[in-house]
Amino acid sequence: MMLERGTIADRYVALRKEIDAALRSLGRAPATVHVVAVTKFQPRSAVVEAIAAGVQRVGENYVKEAEGKLAGLAVRKHFIGHVQTNKARRIVELFDLVESVDRLEAARALDRAAAAQGRTLPVLLQVNISPTERFGVPPAEFDALLAQVRALEHLRVEGVMAIGPVGVTQAQTMQTFETARACFERSGAAVLSLGMSGDWREALAAGSTELRLGTAIFGPRPAKEAIRR
Ligand SMILES: *Cc1c(COP(=O)(O)O)cnc(C)c1O
Repeated sequence: MMLERGTIADRYVALRKEIDAALRSLGRAPATVHVVAVTKFQPRSAVVEAIAAGVQRVGENYVKEAEGKLAGLAVRKHFIGHVQTNKARRIVELFDLVESVDRLEAARALDRAAAAQGRTLPVLLQVNISPTERFGVPPAEFDALLAQVRALEHLRVEGVMAIGPVGVTQAQTMQTFETARACFERSGAAVLSLGMSGDWREALAAGSTELRLGTAIFGPRPAKEAIRR
């Protein structure tokens, strides 16, 4: 148990050093890239430990899971899962930012919920750059969605999110990341959320400003993932 508890902090601190070294070798400033610790299927105790180790942002995929787990924790909460319109109200109540807006219907539901709660919700638009990924706006439709979401009064578009392909070469990963980067550049926004445990180096090379890291910090997720995804 003691060893288990130590490893999250150790992994996070070591990883942050690796990320900063990679950024330096790319000629980029370390402070420009944020880590979002992805806590899906991890217990609250793991989240608490990560925060104690310096994690300032966490990402969750499921509203139900986040409800008890993240309550009262002093950390920036990112919703990174599929936005179901009937969950919009709870998403806006529980989270500081939504990374996964991929269609107008979802944006409208979040906008209404944010209006009802008297706040402006920062969002990222999720672009689909991978044949292995179900969600995300097709790159060809990105500009149109961006214009529509920007017209909504209670959402503020802060950038672009994408999930890289799995089971491909590094070169193919780099190629798909360029598609996300192109959308990001056209948007003129500040945040490019690209890169997970298996592809964060390529993401940094593609200009990512935010890495969403789960297994690299917490170790392998419990098998529940296989059932729920
Ligand atoms: C699970 C998940 C991650 C983290 O994945 P790891 O490979 O464990 O780092 C990042 N982003 C999204 C959207 C996820 O669902």
